Amino acid sequence: MTQASELAVAMDWGGTWIRVGVLDRDGQILWQDRVGHARGTGKDELLGLAEGLLRQAIDWCAPRAIAGIGVAIAGPVEPENGTMYQPPNLPALDGVSLKPLWESNLGYPVWVGNDANLAALGEFHLGAGRTMAKAGMLPKTLVYLTISTGIGGGVIEQGKMLLGADGLAAEIGHMCIDSRDDAIECQCGVRGCLEALASGTAIANITRERIARGGFPSSTLTSESDSMTSATVLQAAGQGDSLAVSIVDGVVFALSVGLANVLHLYNPDLIVLGGGVTSGLVELDLLPRIQERVKTRAMSDLHKEFRLVASYLGDDPGMVGAATLVWQNA
Ligand SMILES: [Zn+2]
Repeated sequence: MTQASELAVAMDWGGTWIRVGVLDRDGQILWQDRVGHARGTGKDELLGLAEGLLRQAIDWCAPRAIAGIGVAIAGPVEPENGTMYQPPNLPALDGVSLKPLWESNLGYPVWVGNDANLAALGEFHLGAGRTMAKAGMLPKTLVYLTISTGIGGGVIEQGKMLLGADGLAAEIGHMCIDSRDDAIECQCGVRGCLEALASGTAIANITRERIARGGFPSSTLTSESDSMTSATVLQAAGQGDSLAVSIVDGVVFALSVGLANVLHLYNPDLIVLGGGVTSGLVELDLLPRIQERVKTRAMSDLHKEFRLVASYLGDDPGMVGAATLVWQNA
């Protein structure tokens, strides 16, 4: 039985940063710190950095009790032992089982999940889902998409994560949108995935490629190809740049097709979009347009009964979700 005063230690481990926080049951982050790691850092050094941050968090909590440690990590992870399976952004961790390692080293129960799955869990219990529940509209099925460097996804059914046989379900970013032989190649090795068409990386790559092909001589993006980011492109679209507008149209199209597939697969009543690209789409007021486009592809009126909102947890859904995993299991 957990006590109200107990704390959760939560980690959000991505391809660039390891963030660790101490959270209360309300999802408030009471303390946090982070450490960066360069690509190519070896396994032992990476694990040392992560464990060092966890020890700092544990020390900070004293004298309050710690209910456990939740870990949200970028990449496919088996939930029983927290074993990493070929994580593309953290390749050195392939095969590492974080749960037994840290339970033995740190002396607290540890639960591990994919960062997008846990972001979905956090949004359901402490973010967009909680806000809807307070308004008397408790969601039954929530789908979360993070659209940033890549595209990750998570599905929450009746408050629980839908994990699949090996914990690898809801890889919505690798849903096929363009099945043509010459579709854009995704970092997963397959062509035409949603991630290859609508992620931040995709937006920058597609822009560079379109500039190289020519045809938009008046675009302000022409001279900026070296420092191209998705934020630059989204901003330029807001200023009416014709190349940027056409690229953002492509993103809206790909997301609308992807989310229509999501509607038919999961029948969500709440879809939450997070990540940096989503912030850009919100600035351009494109969420209502995406929602309308998704509805035109829905097979029934009931499928159209969903809300589409931006993340309520901002930069912290993974960490809040990792803490939620502690509260669900402790
Ligand atoms: Zn892919």
